Order: sequence, then C-alpha cells, then structure tokens
Amino acid sequence: MTPLTLRKGYLQTDAMAFLIALLVAAFVVVFKFFTNLSVATTVLYVTLVLMSANVFSVRLAITVALACLSVLTVIFVVDRDYQNTEAIGAYVRCIVSLSAITFLALRSKRLSDTLRRNETYLVGAQRLSQVGSVGFRVDRSQVFWSAETARIFEYSPKEAPSMLKILARTHPDDRHIAEAVFEQASRHEPRLEVEHRLLMPDGRIKHIHMIANPLPAPHDGFEYVGAVMDLTAARESKDALFRSQSQLAHVTRVTSLGELAASIAHEVNQPLAAIRTSGEACHRWLDRSEPNLGEVRTALDRMISSSARASEVIRRIRKLSRNGDPERQRESFNDIVSDTLGLVQYELSRSHVKLRVELAVVPVHVSADRVQLQQVILNLIINACQAMTEVDPRTRLLHVRTWVHHDEAMLEVRDCGGGICAEALPSLFTPFFTTKADGLGMGLSICRSIIEFHDGRIWATANQGTGAVFCIALPALKNEEVAA
Ligand code: ADP
Repeated sequence: MTPLTLRKGYLQTDAMAFLIALLVAAFVVVFKFFTNLSVATTVLYVTLVLMSANVFSVRLAITVALACLSVLTVIFVVDRDYQNTEAIGAYVRCIVSLSAITFLALRSKRLSDTLRRNETYLVGAQRLSQVGSVGFRVDRSQVFWSAETARIFEYSPKEAPSMLKILARTHPDDRHIAEAVFEQASRHEPRLEVEHRLLMPDGRIKHIHMIANPLPAPHDGFEYVGAVMDLTAARESKDALFRSQSQLAHVTRVTSLGELAASIAHEVNQPLAAIRTSGEACHRWLDRSEPNLGEVRTALDRMISSSARASEVIRRIRKLSRNGDPERQRESFNDIVSDTLGLVQYELSRSHVKLRVELAVVPVHVSADRVQLQQVILNLIINACQAMTEVDPRTRLLHVRTWVHHDEAMLEVRDCGGGICAEALPSLFTPFFTTKADGLGMGLSICRSIIEFHDGRIWATANQGTGAVFCIALPALKNEEVAA
C-alpha cells in the first residue's frame, strides 16, 4: 500500500465519520424535539455507540461516541439546562455512563478483533500446513474439530462433528487402530499417537497422523486435544520416489548383469558341457557289445544334477533381473554373500583377482530383499575389480568378510586398487559422482538407498594407495525373530 492510497483511505474514513456524526446529531435533535424524553435519548446514544463499535472501525466508533457527547452538550447548553441543578446532575450522569459504555464497547471490540484475527491466522496456518485440530471427551459424548480437520475428513465445516463421522471415514481395515487409540484414551494415557488410513466415499485413500494430549485441567469429564495431519501428499511423493528408486535400481542391476555376461555365460556353459560329456559317455557305454548299464545310470545321474545346476544358475539370474517391488524377508546373511560370490567367480578369475572370503562363524540373519542386497554386493565387487585393473595381476586381491558386531551384521569388501582420496569421500554416494571415463556414478548412490531401505548403513574409508574398503552394517535379527 502506497502513502497516497493510505492518505486517501484516511480521508474517506474521516468523511464517513463526519457524515455519521452529522446524521447522529440531526437524528437526536429531531428525536429530542418531538419526544422530549431524556431517558429515551440516552438509550438511543448507548445503542448507537454499541452498534457502531460492532460494525465500524475503532476510529469511526470513537467519532460516533464523540458526536453523541457533543450533541448531548449542545442540547444541554441550548436548553439552558445548566440553570437547573437536577438537569446538571442528569447531564453529568449521562456523560459518565456514555463514556464508560464507549470505553467498554471499544475494549470488547478490540478483544473480539484480536480473537477474529487470531482465528483467521489459525485457520490460514492450518490450511497451509494441512494440520487440523481435534478435541474429544473420553466418553465420546463430545467431539470438536477445526475447519481444516473437517476438510481432511471431507465433511462440510458447518456439519456437527461426531465420533461416528470420524469412524465412518476410517478405513475399515484400520478401524481397529482407531479403536485402540480410544482404548488408550479411556485409560487416560498421557499421549495418544496414531497413523492410519481414511477411506473417502469415492474410494480415495488418505493417510493421517493424529497426536493428542489430555487437557491440562479436565473439569467436566476427561478430554483430549490434538492435531490431525494429512500425510497423503507426502506419502504419495514418498511412494513415487520409492517406485522410481526401485526402477532405477532395476535398470542398474540389469546393467551390472550385462557387465557380468561373460561370467554368466560361463556359469551356464559349465553344466551344459558336463551334460554333453556325460551324454557322450552314455553312448559309449551303450555301444559296447555288452552295454554297461551301471555306468550309463551314473552318467545319467550326472546329467540330471548338471541340468539342475544349470537351471539353478538361470533361476538366480532371472531373479536378479526381475523388476518387482522389494520385499524384505528373513535371510541368512552369509548365504546372500556366498550366492553373490558364486555369480562373480568366473569374472574374478578372468580379471586375475584372488578372492579371500571370511564368513561369520555365528550364522546371522537379516530382514532383507535378497535381490537388492545381492545388487549392492555385486556393485561393490565390480567396482573393486575395476579399481584393480592397474594393479599387477599377481597381487590383485579381493577380501570379502562378514561378521557380527553388537546387533549388526557386517560386511566388508576390501580391494588393493588405487583407493579413495579423502576429498572424494563425501561425494562418493551422491548421484552422478564418477571418476571413470565411462562411469554413470549411480551405483553407490543406489547402494546407499537400498541399504537405507534396509535400515542399515554403508560407508567407505579413505585409503589412498592401499586400496578401498567399503562396509555395510545391517540390523541383525534376534534369535526369537529368526525363529518366528
Ligand atoms: P561408477 O562406477 O559408474 O563410477 P559408482 O557410484 O559405482 O559409479 O562409483 C562412484 C565412484 O566411486 C567411482 O567412479 C570411483 O571414483 C569411486 N569408487 C567406487 N568404488 C571404488 C573402489 N573400490 N576403489 C576406488 N574408487 C572407487
């Protein structure tokens, strides 16, 4: 607002105040002229002051009150009431009561203005933050909700809130969660906190989070007051992020499989070659003048177990290339590591990398998506092999170790390549950080999001010159969780 528009506003207000004052004066003079009832005139002044305090700004209300007082004084002087002691007394009483009423009316106006402003701010802030307020009696007899809570539950703000209406919007599968909270409330617990879904009449699902505390001084029945947050938008964007992360993870997993193509072909070829050799042996044993059926049977058994091995390799590869939502289940940590190492055996020997494996003696279980964890381990091993290409083939060593530390399953992948300099360390897990000419820089960032999805940690230590060390720590399942 410019000073010019402000000034214009004041002028308009002053003109209006002046007009109202004139009208009041004219009205009171006419009224007094025709009725000559002083009590009635005073009541009229009071009504005018109260009405103007309600309708107008403070400035206008004061103008109206001053106009009334002036008119009262003018009439007092014109009528020569100052010659009459009784009339002087009446005049003073009138002035005092009118001033007191004006003062009280203005004070209550200021309070109600402040209240109205606070309410507007509160409603605006609740709308912006998508957090509404809610209050309820433990016996469910009374419920209060703010306009924002009504909006979250998709009721009209004018509708009377009730516990039935809240439960009607609660997702049928989550109703027990809401009931459990009311149970907690009936036990007068110091804090209620719940997250559940709502089911709207058109089938849309919403996610809300409610926190409530008991009112500090419960008077008539125990009451809770709390906040209801609409988490739907945040939940949807988290889900979208999760989906794109797992799609990205899938793409990079398939890329890693491409890098391991020679290894995979070798893994499948080996049992196929064994099947062929056993088949040829079968022929030979059968072509004899006296076929040796015992040897034929042994060769056939070898063929069956080789074909089982081939299909096992194919099953593992297919699992790795599948594109599904990650699913965590109880897995043996050592099994996942050994399985992954099985996939890279040929790659390691092709790259002349000696492998040293030390697996935790105590079996440890983790809650994991097997495929995703294998992807992380594969990524670390491929990186390690690439880091050792400049090293003398006779000294290339990859050390993979698992152990249990406190309540965590630990994995270390250590190579003897060029290592990582301290400056690169903070950027290592950020997307698109790469020092390779043909690198994408997504591998480690995906590893981190996978490990975070598993509630674990991944880190590297700067060991420039002596090789890199990457570590993973995952929460280990307790014995009773393993048995469950
Ligand atoms: P990319 O392999 O496509 O570069 P990554 O996210 O897997 O993407 O790796 C990011 C960077 O981290 C690599 O470019 C490299 O500089 C560094 N790095 C990863 N593993 C090792 C390792 N074992 N030794 C040295 N540097 C490594």
